[in-house]
Amino acid sequence: MTTTRFAPSPTGYIHVGNLRTALFNYLIAAKSGGQFILRLDDTDPERSKQEYADAIMEDLEWLGLTWDRVEKQSDRLGRYEAAAQELRDMGRFYECFETPTELDLKRKKQLNMGKPPVYDRSALALSEDEKAKLREERGQGHWRFMLDHERINWTDGILGDISIDAASVSDPVLIRGDGQFLYTLASVCDDIDFGITNVVRGSDHVTNTATQIQIIQALGGALPSFAHHSLLTGPQGEALSKRLGTLAIRDLREQGVQPMALLSLLARLGSSQPVELRSSLEEIIEGFDLSTFGAAPTKFDVQDLFPLTARHLASLPVEAVADKLDAIGVPADMAEAFWSVARENITTLGDLEGWWVLCRDGAEPLIDEEDHEFIAQAMMLLPDGPYDGDSWSNWTKDVKEATGRKGKGLFMPLRKAVTGMERGPDMSSLMPLLQVVRAKG
Ligand code: GLU
Repeated sequence: MTTTRFAPSPTGYIHVGNLRTALFNYLIAAKSGGQFILRLDDTDPERSKQEYADAIMEDLEWLGLTWDRVEKQSDRLGRYEAAAQELRDMGRFYECFETPTELDLKRKKQLNMGKPPVYDRSALALSEDEKAKLREERGQGHWRFMLDHERINWTDGILGDISIDAASVSDPVLIRGDGQFLYTLASVCDDIDFGITNVVRGSDHVTNTATQIQIIQALGGALPSFAHHSLLTGPQGEALSKRLGTLAIRDLREQGVQPMALLSLLARLGSSQPVELRSSLEEIIEGFDLSTFGAAPTKFDVQDLFPLTARHLASLPVEAVADKLDAIGVPADMAEAFWSVARENITTLGDLEGWWVLCRDGAEPLIDEEDHEFIAQAMMLLPDGPYDGDSWSNWTKDVKEATGRKGKGLFMPLRKAVTGMERGPDMSSLMPLLQVVRAKG
């Protein structure tokens, strides 16, 4: 069975970049009737917060990306300790005592000599006595996994054949000096224990994958298949990392973006298939194909979400927005007629209230200097409401006969006087919704 996972660290809100990872993993599992696990990578007790874990779940639920199972790394520290011991027992795990400053210095020296900044394994030369002394001076050391210096190969679901020389990578630190298990070990243990078959994550994890493959092999686990999606950039190709804070899923929700718009865009952006607005997750699942995604950085423009949101809203039946209409005060017996007009004229649901206020209270008339007399005359010909579907055509016919105006010169000043705007809904449909025409005085 296919089992995938989305593994955010609850140290902040999830953003569009994370969503891409979550969505791909969700879709792969859903497409094959498999399992999708939400894994909270919370081994860092300082930075991980329950509030963020709750927010991540709320955001995923809002999107409809529900998980079959949730796991927390902080519940599994015993397992990570056992795995660490296994690695120690097989001689693949060694304690190091360099301070960050010392490591930094080593890296700089290597770079100056034109060498790759790979950890030189000098801790391997320490005797037990030397280690005991260092422990006394500096406290517990940090632990590194000893990579086998050979090539690590895999066929990536997006990047194709990858081959990384393990000698070009530092032995990864799996336990910090303060005893904290690091993501690399925790993730490997979880992927093995939860039977993860497919790992999709950002291309910033490619080197991690190389080291994780060797750790999985050392621990006797089955290798999942790996795929690394490109990272999102801004519309001009600029790095998005600094702006991701403003592209949190909750901010987009706040701005009125609809889940279907977001999911439809992200399920296709960066692939060879066109972006198509879908009306359900089922359709998105059906149209998803990981192999159509390319390795190049993917441009993301938040503005693309608004036309998709508008089109999605225009397709919704009144039942889908009944609560919202009720909340802004649209009477139930007007909801259907109001929605059928308003839905074509909004970008987000936030725009609805303006249209409702227009219907309920009328608009401040917009009358050009030269039209004052014309509008005064026209308003005399407008009967008192309530209006119906014929009111606009009857009225404009009468005004045309009385004034001789026609075409745009007839319709535009009337529209502006009634709605206060140059553009807007079809007037025949709008008139029955208008409770007041303020220009009538
Ligand atoms: N917590 C890791 C991250 O958010 C998970 C990476 C992975 O999918 O393995 O980057």
